[in-house]
Amino acid sequence: MIIDAHAHVSSEKFAQDRADVLVRAWAAGVEAIVDVGCSVESSEASLRLAEADPRIWAAVGVHPHDAKDWDDATRPALEALAASPRVVAIGETGLDFHYDLSPRDVQRAVFRAHLRLARDLGKPLVLHVREAYDEALATLDEALGAWAGDAPRGVSHCFTGTAEQALGFVRRGFYVSFTGVVTFKNAAQVQAAARAVPLDALMVETDCPYMAPVPHRGRRCEPAFVLDTARGVARLRGVEDEEVFRATVAATRRVFQLPG
Ligand SMILES: [Zn+2]
Ligand SMILES: [Zn+2]
Repeated sequence: MIIDAHAHVSSEKFAQDRADVLVRAWAAGVEAIVDVGCSVESSEASLRLAEADPRIWAAVGVHPHDAKDWDDATRPALEALAASPRVVAIGETGLDFHYDLSPRDVQRAVFRAHLRLARDLGKPLVLHVREAYDEALATLDEALGAWAGDAPRGVSHCFTGTAEQALGFVRRGFYVSFTGVVTFKNAAQVQAAARAVPLDALMVETDCPYMAPVPHRGRRCEPAFVLDTARGVARLRGVEDEEVFRATVAATRRVFQLPG
């Protein structure tokens, strides 16, 4: 019925009750979850989770926050993980100039290393961008060149930019994914973006344990809440919930080449 296109169920935050969280997700109608790595270690955890349940898929990469930890062993480690058929994407990677937890030049270099890795492996990308959208778009142009194909190149996750920037990703072959932020009262810019993106390039996600949608705002987020985010998008666009469920499942299956 719906897919959580970006989650961190493998994170420590779910150490106590991970099985219950997953039971609630499946019961709510979540049919698949993409669990995303933020470091080599957490990418391994994502893959372990995906290997234990056919409804869970993994993405492997080093978050821009952790870009400072990238070294000569990182690419081979990610490549080895990505050899598993359970790994459907490279990321999350990108530029985060809001927190600046790694120096910007290091983030830039590590972002480019991920773009090369994804291109070499023929895998889609999971992009994490915050307060750096125009530079991220320019980097994609430089590193990947013009896009002329049917297969999507990846997704800009937890989108918080403008409608124009969202369409910039779409023009470059990327889909745009929205978290619970789209349901927040003070999120007019994100809501405008969620109205502007063509429905066949739009995805929904929880990014749990963060970003719980209304009416769960402020609590630990979990995949079952992705339904509230999808309903929020449907309300914004003035369409039936079912239409957003259907379209986002199809988009997520297309970008990550999930079977079914
Ligand atoms: Zn992220
Ligand atoms: Zn994430």
